[in-house]
Amino acid sequence: MKVEIKRSKRRKKTISARLDGDIMYVYAPVDTPEKELHKIIKNFEKRFARRNLKRELNKEHNLREVFNKLNKKYFDGKIKIKSIEYVTVQQSKYGCCNYKKKTIRLSHYIAQMPDWVRDYVIIHEMAHILQPNHSKAFWDMVYRYKLAERARGFLIAKKMEDNQELDIE
Ligand SMILES: [Zn+2]
Repeated sequence: MKVEIKRSKRRKKTISARLDGDIMYVYAPVDTPEKELHKIIKNFEKRFARRNLKRELNKEHNLREVFNKLNKKYFDGKIKIKSIEYVTVQQSKYGCCNYKKKTIRLSHYIAQMPDWVRDYVIIHEMAHILQPNHSKAFWDMVYRYKLAERARGFLIAKKMEDNQELDIE
């Protein structure tokens, strides 16, 4: 990512940026200190990189197709959702669902894991669409997936399973 800084006298306070292809244009007031500008540019770069990664992951992986397959196999096709997508902002959760809005979000970390682990996380979130808690009924649904236990072990081994649980609104 190339950075082009445009300083403007008319600009009073705000610094903004836009990405055009591979060039990031940064608009800043004339008197912004170099050091501060540098810090802000780093943040913009991170944000744009996350946005690009999100776009690429969702283009590359058809999560809706995976969802449809799992829905048919484990839930008799009964689960309806509005969207399922990879996100790049979740730092501590592998997956989460908003069961009111019927959306499922997966962390980009999941994209690097084996498919059977990804499937477990999706099934876990799908089950939450029906059961927003971790009740026995919930786990009964999840354990219809034969690799559920192994996938949980896999995630525990990554020491993140504890943070993986979703928030319920
Ligand atoms: Zn859960």
